[in-house]
Amino acid sequence: MRKLGLVAAATCALMSSAAIAKTTVIYAGHVITDVAEAAQGPSTVIVTDDRITSIAPGRVDAPAGAEIVDLGDKTLLPGLIDLHVHLTGDPGGDYRSEAVEPDEWGVVVGEKNARITLRAGFTTVREAGSAQYTAFALRRGTAEGLIEGPRIVAAGPALAIIGGHGDVTGFREDIHAVLDQGYTCTGAVECAEKVRKASRAGADVIKITATGGVLSQQGRGLGAHFSNAEMESIAETAHSLGLKVMAHAHGARGIESAAAAGIDSIEHGTFADEAALKVMKAKGTYMVPTLMAFEGIRERLGKGIYTPTVEAKVRMTLNDVGKAMARAKALGVPIAFGTDAGVFEHGRNAHEFALLVEHGLTPREALASATTVAARLLSMENEIGRLAPGMSADMIAVSGDPLSDVTTLEKVDWVMTRGRIAG
Ligand SMILES: [Zn+2]
Repeated sequence: MRKLGLVAAATCALMSSAAIAKTTVIYAGHVITDVAEAAQGPSTVIVTDDRITSIAPGRVDAPAGAEIVDLGDKTLLPGLIDLHVHLTGDPGGDYRSEAVEPDEWGVVVGEKNARITLRAGFTTVREAGSAQYTAFALRRGTAEGLIEGPRIVAAGPALAIIGGHGDVTGFREDIHAVLDQGYTCTGAVECAEKVRKASRAGADVIKITATGGVLSQQGRGLGAHFSNAEMESIAETAHSLGLKVMAHAHGARGIESAAAAGIDSIEHGTFADEAALKVMKAKGTYMVPTLMAFEGIRERLGKGIYTPTVEAKVRMTLNDVGKAMARAKALGVPIAFGTDAGVFEHGRNAHEFALLVEHGLTPREALASATTVAARLLSMENEIGRLAPGMSADMIAVSGDPLSDVTTLEKVDWVMTRGRIAG
């Protein structure tokens, strides 16, 4: 009888502690709440469960039972956002061997990469194209805390034209049929259908390949893929479902048509000329430059990793990397942070900051691209990208001042995502 009573008491204690909010009190020497503003001095940030509940100057006493994190003289800032990653893959894979791997393997690889990406300071990522349900499974895994990783905004498989970048290419036709992901489309009606299919499958955003791409076996260069009518249909259908569209695009005319069609962001944007950028500016289209992608490709060139088809396309791009971004900035096109991690090793994402600065952004603009600007493109500006009461508790700590030296972001000392401390 007595024993039973103890068990009941223990069960009761467990239940009540589960219901009680978890409080974390963070002390930091410097706090950047919004990259548009100057850093604050020593401050106390209080987190209750997954939310920031207060930010106060000085050292506020912690309530009883709270977990205390003392970051000393480090700078606390909003968690970083990478708008273009491919968590389910690692660089340099041979396309023939990848073809025989089951989709499920991508989830295993993705679990590893989600952890690496989070520990590199990225508390939110946009998954820019992956096989079937793999990114959606990872998204649920990090949301429920079953695996360690960032918040994932996932596209799922990209929409592509038949035989274009994003479709399976480089095999016999009967092999293509077996490997087909089911998201190619021809004509406005079928493209609208595939947007709705992606939405039904669980996409948070629609990814399309608006032009040729560098790392696929399709050999027709980097020009426009979809017709104007197809892109207009994709944008209109996605927007009617409350989804944004991200378009992989290198060639200028493909960029211009995608922006004119109302697509929300141009990924890479390598050869964007004045005419294309003017349409982007007029339509409010974001550019996500992914300069790290080219860094990764450059490191692998001439080593027998890429096929001759791919090497030829690589050589078309390398001299132009970063030039379009500089023109975009001059015209006032919003620039948002994305890397194409997976084309290079996951975890090196933050080196993109140094490349953005090298090509003309100020450190403050570079940091804004990965916080406030990225949050706006995701329509999540009241959730992430700043530190304020009510926002998600997504934050990182670094040594030094990232607003004067962005390379401080390449060594992140502490990470919290949705109130959970990484590591
Ligand atoms: Zn990509």
